[in-house]
Amino acid sequence: MRAPVFAANWKMNLGPREAAAYMERFLAEGGSRRGHTVAFFPPALSLAAVKEALGEHSDVLLGVQNIHWEDKGAFTGELSARMAADAGAALCLVGHSERRHVFGERDEECGRKCVAAVRAGLVPVLCVGETLDERESGQTRDIVLRQLRAGIGGLTADDVANLVVAYEPVWAIGTGRTATPGDASAVHVVIRDELARTGGERARGVPIVYGGSVNAANAEALLAEPEVGGLLVGGASLDPVTWSAILRA
Ligand code: PEP
Repeated sequence: MRAPVFAANWKMNLGPREAAAYMERFLAEGGSRRGHTVAFFPPALSLAAVKEALGEHSDVLLGVQNIHWEDKGAFTGELSARMAADAGAALCLVGHSERRHVFGERDEECGRKCVAAVRAGLVPVLCVGETLDERESGQTRDIVLRQLRAGIGGLTADDVANLVVAYEPVWAIGTGRTATPGDASAVHVVIRDELARTGGERARGVPIVYGGSVNAANAEALLAEPEVGGLLVGGASLDPVTWSAILRA
C-alpha cells in the first residue's frame, strides 16, 4: 500500500442510493489524487453501489468495516473476508474503536481477523488507540503495543510488511478533539519501531495513518508530520466536498 493513504470510514451511514449520489459528486470534485491511495469503507450493503459508481476509476480502493474470522458458517449477521474480497473489497478495518468499545471486540479476535483478512487477500487496516483514562494514566504506549502485538501476532513478516496500521485515540474519534500532530507522531514512532522489530526492515514502510476528528482544517498539519502516513476519517468523509478538500491537503 502506497502512502499517503486516505481512508474514508462511513460507519453506519449512506445506504446504496445515497452512496451512488455521493460518488457522483465525489468524482465531479475530481475524485482521487495522483500519488495518493484513496479507500472508501462504506457499509457492506453499499459496496456494490460504490463500486458501480466508480466505474473505470480503479485507482480508488474499497474496503469493509468489519469481518468475521471464519470464511463461512453459522454466524448470522456476519460477513467473511472471502465474501468481501469477492464483492470487490481490497481492504478491511480490524479492531476499529467502535468495534472494540461498543461491541466488545477483544484483542484476540482482532488477531484472528487479521489472519482471515490476509488469507482472503485483503489488506487489514489494524486500528489501535487508547481511551482518555488510559492516556491520562500514562498507559498509551502499553495499550497501543498490546493491541498491535495481538493484531499482528498470527501474521508472517511478509504479511506485516503489507499491513496498514491506524492510530486512532478513542478520545479523539467523533468528539471534535484531535491529537496534536506531535502527539500522533510520537505514537506512530512507537508503532513503527514495533513493526520493524516483528516484521523486519520492510515493515518500516507500512503506512501508519492517523484517525480522530480529522477535518479539512487540521488535515494539512497532521500530514506535515513525516511519521503520519495518511488519514482515516469518519464524520468528515461523509460529505464528498469536505472529503475532496481533505484529499487536497
Ligand atoms: C473513524 O471512524 O475512524 C474516525 C476517525 O471517526 P471521526 O473522523 O469521525 O473521528
